[in-house]
Amino acid sequence: MIIVMKMKASSDDIDAVINRLHNGGWQTHVSRGEERTIIGVIGDERKLDQGAMSRMGGVDRVVPILRPFKLASRDFQAEDSKIEVNGHVFGGEKVIMMAGPCSVESMEQVMETAIAIREAGAHLLRGGAFKPRTSPYSFQGMGEEGLKILAAAREETGLPIVSEIMATDQIDLMCKYVDVLQIGTRNMQNYALLNAVGKTNKPILLKRGMMSTIEELLMSAEYIMSNGNHKVILCERGIRTFEKYTRNTLDINAVPVLKELTHLPVVVDPSHATGRWTLVKATSRASVAAGADGLIIEVHPNPAEATSDGEQSLKPKRFAELMVEVRRVAEAIGRTI
Ligand code: PEP
Ligand code: MN
Repeated sequence: MIIVMKMKASSDDIDAVINRLHNGGWQTHVSRGEERTIIGVIGDERKLDQGAMSRMGGVDRVVPILRPFKLASRDFQAEDSKIEVNGHVFGGEKVIMMAGPCSVESMEQVMETAIAIREAGAHLLRGGAFKPRTSPYSFQGMGEEGLKILAAAREETGLPIVSEIMATDQIDLMCKYVDVLQIGTRNMQNYALLNAVGKTNKPILLKRGMMSTIEELLMSAEYIMSNGNHKVILCERGIRTFEKYTRNTLDINAVPVLKELTHLPVVVDPSHATGRWTLVKATSRASVAAGADGLIIEVHPNPAEATSDGEQSLKPKRFAELMVEVRRVAEAIGRTI
């Protein structure tokens, strides 16, 4: 349910509505727009006396939200959310570029990549220290050692870090080193993890489950947001279809669909969506043209030797070429990089 206040509602009117809701046991999310204030009601709506609320001073109307996701919904907040990470704003005019290796492997590998991607114009460094591998016998990541390497690369280049958290017992460790917590595709419906990151104040990069619908992705965002953390960046990373030529199928529709349904920023991961480095540039251009607020791309100085995802990783030189082309697309639609 949302309560739309009149344009001329006073702050006393707004406070009275909020107090009444709080006294009744509901939580509120207040969105103060330029023209009017909208109060979102969180809790069991069936017990709310809609008529009584609509008669309160300054209330224009009481609107039930029919969609299952609420805090993430455009009905709740019409304007795009802007999520800042060390001066870079997701959801604004700038297309935010994140790049780096799938896995952190060594200081030299991360440093070389970080310096090269920054030179090419990237804004954030990505790298996994805890890796969700299909096989328990595959490289599982460097753990805290890897996080220290990422932090050293941030120190050297100024690039903030995005890295995947896999379990609730990693929260303190990850928050110590990382600027953006990534929830991977396999954990999109790990509700304990979503609740836990929802209690932090770190921005969350929430990747779409490989077999999840757009609505399920938004319900997962809702888990994080309902715990108090509204800094959620959604990521389309390809879904499983009958097509076998590519690792996944990039659901380009998801970008404009999400932009319609939610105020949260939307980014695309063309590396995991295609699984082939030769396809990453074209799908990056397409993603930005479709309205993505950012891209996350795997880059490795020597993909042939990578411990994970070498076949979809770009060499730094190719990433620099991609930046040039993606910048042109961004400019063509009135955005910057
Ligand atoms: C990754 O970013 O390296 C990763 C494992 O991504 P996903 O969860 O989308 O597979
Ligand atoms: Mn990867």
